[in-house]
Amino acid sequence: MAVNTVGALPDWRAVPLPWQTSLWQRAGTWLQSGRLPHALMLTGVEGSGKQLFANAFAALTLCRLPENGRACGHCPSCRQFAAGGHPDYHYLTLAEEKSAILVDQIRELCATLALTSLHGGRKLAVLSPADAMNSNAANSLLKTLEEPAPDTVLILVTAQPARLPATIRSRCQMLSMPAPATHTALDWLNGVESRSDWPALLGIAGGGPLHALQLAGTQLVRERLGLFQMLLDLRSNKLNPLQCAGELSRAPLPLVLRLLQTWTMDLVRLASAAWTSPPVLINADAHALLQSALVGLNLRALHAYLGRLNRATALAATPVNAQLLLEDLLLQWAEGLGSLNTAPLATAGG
Ligand SMILES: [Zn+2]
Repeated sequence: MAVNTVGALPDWRAVPLPWQTSLWQRAGTWLQSGRLPHALMLTGVEGSGKQLFANAFAALTLCRLPENGRACGHCPSCRQFAAGGHPDYHYLTLAEEKSAILVDQIRELCATLALTSLHGGRKLAVLSPADAMNSNAANSLLKTLEEPAPDTVLILVTAQPARLPATIRSRCQMLSMPAPATHTALDWLNGVESRSDWPALLGIAGGGPLHALQLAGTQLVRERLGLFQMLLDLRSNKLNPLQCAGELSRAPLPLVLRLLQTWTMDLVRLASAAWTSPPVLINADAHALLQSALVGLNLRALHAYLGRLNRATALAATPVNAQLLLEDLLLQWAEGLGSLNTAPLATAGG
């Protein structure tokens, strides 16, 4: 197994990861029996290692001397693959500073795949994230899926298959990577490095262990408890919300919003604890801070705030002024969510 470090991802030689074993065997059976579909769609939660899996499967497909259902790692094909220069392997993703995979990229890929294999074996392409294709690109790919060149395998990687046209989905063999069970994910993370905050990081990551591993290496996540203390200080007027928004706007916006989201989700859980005790918190290590923050807030206002954070998260995927967005959210928070708390609870949902 390749050596892992916190903040850095393992490489494809670590595949199959513990939660990928049965999927790996399934795909390997297709390969051994000569029934490999010409198009696969690999789905699963963000950070479950889909991309690594696709790369490892590509290496296995191209390997000349597979060993125990895995690429051997030392044949000429494996060496070229490891060096990132295998002529029959193509990886397509977003071009720099583009928000979509464009039709010209797909046309170029399809033209390359239509040529003869340079090693005389299969040709393989991985598209990731496949849901980033715009509609022209998807239409262009559809033609290749309908009339695949011989010995060509396409692997479409996506966490959001519903964003792809049904015509594309229906022409792919689906491979759904199961989300790892929490204990499996925590065992694996603790194997990389023993840490007490893995449960919190895994929760912030939405359950994807590789995402949790990356988060552990980010400054904002390392300073997570400081951010929560800042939220408390905002409520007690010790800090200026506009100044805090300015400082936070220098960090990656989706991550700032995700931390605010998990903080608010935990407050919702604490506020509902009378009905569902004991609450299971994402930021369990911030229990005391959360308990202090709950004073003066009610469930209705917290739900409304969570709704605002969800909308802000959707906005963060578009070009948006991070500072203004955060100023709005922090001002509201500093004011005790008062403006979200005007209607009486009795009308909730009515
Ligand atoms: Zn090999």
